[in-house]
Amino acid sequence: MTGCLSGNDAAYWCPEMSVEGCIMQVISLGNMLVEVMRVDLDVALDRPGTFIGPFPSGDTPIYIDTVARLGGHACGFIGVVGADDLGSCLLTRFERDGVDFNCGRVLSSHATGVAFVAYFSDGSRRFVFHSRHAASGQLSPEQVKPAYFSDCRWLHVTGCNLAASESSRLACLRAIELLPPGAVLSFDPNIRPEILSIAEIRDLCAPVISRANVILPSLNEAAMLTGLLDDGAGCSTWAAQGKTVVLKRGPFGCHVFDGSQAVDVPGFRVKEVDPTRAGDSFCAAITTARLEGLDWLQAARFANAVGALAVTAKGPMEGAPTRDEVVTFVARSNAS
Ligand code: ATP
Ligand code: MG
Repeated sequence: MTGCLSGNDAAYWCPEMSVEGCIMQVISLGNMLVEVMRVDLDVALDRPGTFIGPFPSGDTPIYIDTVARLGGHACGFIGVVGADDLGSCLLTRFERDGVDFNCGRVLSSHATGVAFVAYFSDGSRRFVFHSRHAASGQLSPEQVKPAYFSDCRWLHVTGCNLAASESSRLACLRAIELLPPGAVLSFDPNIRPEILSIAEIRDLCAPVISRANVILPSLNEAAMLTGLLDDGAGCSTWAAQGKTVVLKRGPFGCHVFDGSQAVDVPGFRVKEVDPTRAGDSFCAAITTARLEGLDWLQAARFANAVGALAVTAKGPMEGAPTRDEVVTFVARSNAS
């Protein structure tokens, strides 16, 4: 990764850089942004008020950083940041946690993406995104290089990156094409119906869902994407097509749909400080656990622990635990 970061503050991305020799086992790609959030509840974004941040963020950056923090697998991320302090906020976190960025780009022509977030006492959140026209919107299929995928064992793609821009969608599809036989494709719909119609969302997601081995929806997404009555029916339909589906259920944990079986895996009890992005950490933990040979129920329990720890810290990636922290947390929860 340091190859991309060496140099001064010019565009130090080197398009000719070779990725031969970068052996990545887990890869993801997409929108890189920082998050700046209100300190107090119920302060809308249309008035002056106090913010905290920037925090490194973006659904797939959180995912890959959490896989790296959990350890055991070489992780690579494909995305774009601006040559500015906010880009450095993201890249410094990747560097600290060991995420490779050799297929990434650092552009002096565009600023790093930002999301502003306000929280309300009824539990709702409101976002203002500056990303489509920011550096992150410049993600392109040319960055997705075959050599980078030669040893890939797991690729994670999300719906919001299929919707972000045409070039981002094409980058995701190219990554899927490059997956070696036997590698796992996981898909987290993570898509906002406010941005697109349901028909458009279904069209965007269909080719990825048909290829995915593992689908990791949040509440309402399986019903929305399949057009069926409820999440249970939607997840069972995907499971009948040979996919393993893990439905994320916030504090309640998750449901695993595998073959004809549907099993409830209860969540851990924690004090929730910041619920945003627990789902991305959860997906990361599923990847780590499955690559280590855990069965689906063990993997779901491990992911529930990582998701629970993620909500205990303010900031999207700040609760991403190390392996030791997960082990200690699970042992304490079992004892209490
Ligand atoms: P987001 O879109 O905010 O990233 P999500 O809606 O995709 O999240 P959630 O279901 O909110 O995903 O959270 C993912 C997982 O994290 C849950 O399945 C659960 O295991 C854990 N989790 C989330 N919130 C809590 C909580 N308050 N207490 C305990 N565990 C939680
Ligand atoms: Mg949630």
